[in-house]
Amino acid sequence: MFTLDLAGRTGVVFGVANQRSLAWAIAQQLHAAGARLAFSYAGERLQEKVEALAAGLDGSFVFPCDVTDDAAVSRAFEQIRERFGTIDFLVHSVAFANKEDLEGSFLDTSRAGFHLAMDISAYSLVRIAREAVPLMTSGGSIVTLTYMASQRVVPSYNVMGSAKAALEHEVRQLAYELGPRSIRVNAISAGPVNTLSARGISGFLDMLQVAREKAPLRRSIEPAEVGKAALFLLSDMGSGITGETLYVDAGYNIMGT
Ligand code: NAP
Repeated sequence: MFTLDLAGRTGVVFGVANQRSLAWAIAQQLHAAGARLAFSYAGERLQEKVEALAAGLDGSFVFPCDVTDDAAVSRAFEQIRERFGTIDFLVHSVAFANKEDLEGSFLDTSRAGFHLAMDISAYSLVRIAREAVPLMTSGGSIVTLTYMASQRVVPSYNVMGSAKAALEHEVRQLAYELGPRSIRVNAISAGPVNTLSARGISGFLDMLQVAREKAPLRRSIEPAEVGKAALFLLSDMGSGITGETLYVDAGYNIMGT
């Protein structure tokens, strides 16, 4: 019998910045289902915040990891191996682009800004999956977070749209490569949610308003809805699904006009 029960399962969550983070909404669902979790924090600035959140979840621990630093990624997974031995799932909920690249003309994107957005928001999935896979000795499930601007034009999303298109390709490529090890890889394409990163996108509040008006459900989504979809994909209930992008956007993506 397949269930959503994650008792006895362990996993790693990248991308909690605060209680509004989609990674935190996912972590709450995973914890409620019985999983033990490890959380990354990117810089000392966020250490206290992530530690305080994780302290409320039994059996969890936090570790430092800037995903652009290869040595830090290796050290992080060494810590995870020492604490958990093996893991069952990985959540990648990390993205960044310079503020000037999330407004104005895409034509003006600098080489450095393009590389940075791609490195943190797309390449990091490959880099951390490479460390996670050897710990997934009984198979596993990986979920990343994407946005519809990978496929459509969303003004101001600019370079992050390029990064999300790359990320969604990685999901398919990794799903193919990791399938023989019974490791599934999927993306959740979330509708707009008011988080720290989202507020960095010029015109974000307009995007939120348009989504509310035009989505078939006539509302925006709740972070918990992303959490529930992630729980489904990371649990045995998603056992037949890999390489997919699942839209959790109140249906907005199906609309023409
Ligand atoms: P968030 O709370 O700001 O989360 C973004 C996370 O990325 C933060 O924890 C941030 O840590 C981390 N990060 C950035 N650079 C990093 C680095 N070099 N190394 C390690 N971590 C780094 O915002 P969010 O909205 O939940 O975003 C999570 C994911 O959901 C992103 O992939 C985003 O594109 C995606 N998404 C969001 C929405 C939305 O509307 N919110 C919609 C669709 C998809 P620091 O703060 O320490 O840098």
